[in-house]
Amino acid sequence: MNVLILGSGGREHAFAIKLLESKKINKLFVAPGNAGTDKIATNINISVTDFEAVKKITLENHIKMVVVGPEVPLVAGVHDFFLADEELKNIPVIGPKKDGALLEGSKDFSKQFMQKHGVPTARYESFTKENLTDGFAFLETLEPPYVLKADGLAAGKGVLILNSLEEAKTELEEMVSNQKFGDASTTVVIEEFLKGIELSVFVLTDGKSYKILPSAKDYKRIGEGDAGLNTGGMGAISPVPFADKAFLDKVEELVVKPTITGLQKDGIDYRGFIFIGLMNDNGNPSVVEYNVRMGDPETEVVLPRINSDLFDLFEGVAHQNLNEKSFSVTNQTATTVMLVSGGYPEAYEKNKEITGFDTVEESFVFHAGTTIKDNKVVTSGGRVMAITSFGDTIEEALEKSYRSIDKIHFDKMNYRKDIGFDLV
Ligand code: AMP
Repeated sequence: MNVLILGSGGREHAFAIKLLESKKINKLFVAPGNAGTDKIATNINISVTDFEAVKKITLENHIKMVVVGPEVPLVAGVHDFFLADEELKNIPVIGPKKDGALLEGSKDFSKQFMQKHGVPTARYESFTKENLTDGFAFLETLEPPYVLKADGLAAGKGVLILNSLEEAKTELEEMVSNQKFGDASTTVVIEEFLKGIELSVFVLTDGKSYKILPSAKDYKRIGEGDAGLNTGGMGAISPVPFADKAFLDKVEELVVKPTITGLQKDGIDYRGFIFIGLMNDNGNPSVVEYNVRMGDPETEVVLPRINSDLFDLFEGVAHQNLNEKSFSVTNQTATTVMLVSGGYPEAYEKNKEITGFDTVEESFVFHAGTTIKDNKVVTSGGRVMAITSFGDTIEEALEKSYRSIDKIHFDKMNYRKDIGFDLV
């Protein structure tokens, strides 16, 4: 069977490697892909939101399943586009339709959903410029720090956590009245600050049953000791030591089950991944956010730990018989360290030649912002490569990742040397 993956990050390279382990896959296509996927699949250079182009390559290449990596095409309705097209409607899409994608596409919707279905989450209210003064009044009822979230997609930048009330009021006004995050901040969710340690739990569902995938913790800040600006993610670890069985059982009962049944009750036929951002406060889970796709770089530690055939699981999602599919996970720990372009997450240079990555033996090298130019692999983005290793312990896995990184070079390469620092 021919399969198409939409996206171009480390997540999609990890999907590609995992899917190619399946004997059922004939040809794999990635659009637009990167230098890593180019080596193992066929890259097709189209935009993931150009649905007519997606249709053309799907038909031309006899694609029989589409796996969507990022959230943007899901929120824009790629799955709905397939269902509405006579020639595409029988080709399964792994990823929710627009209605389910709203769990990520609108923070206001996802908070309402959680409240309606009894999923534990921070108390909140939503505001627009029409009721800005009510927003100020609500802020006054809260204790600092104040959490302000743009309702719509803002490429991971739409959440502000502020210590002063005055600053929170000013930023709220900037968001709703001056469109600080464009249309995404027309509505702003203000919520209570949650204490605890953060982690992510991933679920794959066919709308009826689900599999809980390995949990992961990611490292978002650019600087060591979790300092500096937020990034797309500088590293990740799976499993998460502080997410023990008792905690994960609570997550399943209090979060996963009500989420899946809530989707059913609301008539949302959800087929794909749900990424649940959680706070663990003394063993009690509270949902920070839902995402409607896998995380990046979490995918680079979650997928390698899955022993089962990922394509088989996807077929279970497509045919709604996921409950019949076998599913197992290795007990080994996986760690990933992201190599980034110097300057990222602010301005950085591209087109730096990357060398040595093909000599790495004890780790997986997942390409992210890489491309091929004049037969050389060069950087093409802020996050360049994720280096994933296995170990019996976090320390052992990290040692391997850092040894592998010593072999890789590009001008102004940067990475955090303390991934997992809080866990070992
Ligand atoms: P989100 O996009 O909703 O996940 O928010 C981005 C990040 O902001 C999260 O990963 C948390 O680290 C932090 N955050 C969001 N909401 C809260 C909250 N209510 N309390 C504490 N931290 C939060």
